[in-house]
Amino acid sequence: MGSAETRLKSLAVSMGADVVGITTGDRLADGPPSADPRYLLPSANSVISFAVPLDLEIAQDFICKKSWRPHCENRKAIAQTLYAIGDALTEKLLSEGYEVVNVDINNNYRPEEGADDVTEMTAFHPDFSHRYAALAAGVGRLGWSGNILTQEHGALVELGSVLTSATLTPDMPIPDEEHPCDRCKMCSLVCPVEMIHPQASLQVKVAGVTETISSKRPNTCCWIGCTGYEGLAKSTTWSNWSPYRLGHQLPEEKQEIDALCISLQKIDPQMQAIDNNFSNYRQAVHDPDWFYYTVCGFCRSVCSPRREERLANRKLIINSGTAALKLDGNHEVAGENAVEVLTPFGLQVVIPGTKFSGERSPTRKWPGQFPLDREVIEYLRRHVHSAEPKTRTAD
Ligand code: SF4
Ligand code: SF4
Repeated sequence: MGSAETRLKSLAVSMGADVVGITTGDRLADGPPSADPRYLLPSANSVISFAVPLDLEIAQDFICKKSWRPHCENRKAIAQTLYAIGDALTEKLLSEGYEVVNVDINNNYRPEEGADDVTEMTAFHPDFSHRYAALAAGVGRLGWSGNILTQEHGALVELGSVLTSATLTPDMPIPDEEHPCDRCKMCSLVCPVEMIHPQASLQVKVAGVTETISSKRPNTCCWIGCTGYEGLAKSTTWSNWSPYRLGHQLPEEKQEIDALCISLQKIDPQMQAIDNNFSNYRQAVHDPDWFYYTVCGFCRSVCSPRREERLANRKLIINSGTAALKLDGNHEVAGENAVEVLTPFGLQVVIPGTKFSGERSPTRKWPGQFPLDREVIEYLRRHVHSAEPKTRTAD
């Protein structure tokens, strides 16, 4: 039969988890506030942390801009797997009489003073941090990027956590001498908005382990890069998969970056939709029409387990060119005729030089599209007649 811990871990592995570990509320007590499982489950004694790997080949095609959508689809499938693993563990523990919370995979933030909703947030502290749980449970260690790195997959994993009132025997964190991050700093070099400082560091303590990680720019900076409001690197020779451009450098001051992020979110069509994935993430990842729009995460995708692979991945990224939005909603590498056009959303968009039909699309729903892309394409069709191969604004 095996111990309760072994049975729970075997269940998670049988459903696709690559690494599974256990930690306790007591061990997490020295961590930052989002390491506290009792915020979501006051009776929590233990946490089961699990990691599912991303498809490496698909991730490579993503970073070199060979293909975009397969990585998005891979992430969606993995999110569904993480929910399924968490649900199976939940069912098992509930059947044994324990209290359980299967922590949402993403987009669950603690309320912030002065912020009415997510569009006004600037700190984005999660209800519970999957990363801190994974560190404490021996699933991985925090790399320079702040991402979790496992021994076998580097940072190319997604995490889930189940909180329970059951008292389980914890695993030990990975010791310092086996730390999977070798400080290659490739993560710093592939962030288009320079979120991850290459030298300045800070320390974070969880479960008796002290991690030294990069001192980052404000969280709204990554929000801007990762949502895709700005995809272009300072060198202007490469971007992430976002075709959007602010048209100016990001401000240095936290207050100004925060204000910029809020102003962009306030007019982002995604954030205005009542049923967006911030209101119900679980529902979104199980909706066949929902598109897991991913334009960045380069700090993670660069971080393969072996150093030579990371160096090669960085080259792939900086030689990958820049992204453009096609009128069918796909993203592609911008060609010589690409142009930047001003949109009503505080952003410029890079599109292939082309002529527009001047008509609305026959359907407003467009399953599998990102709301900002959809609205921008509608706008271009209605207001821009042709885009010449030079920067221009809409009529
Ligand atoms: S890219 Fe290098 S420095 Fe950054 S987290 Fe990965 S191993 Fe560490
Ligand atoms: S997700 Fe993108 S924008 Fe955010 S820190 Fe990583 S590389 Fe930078």
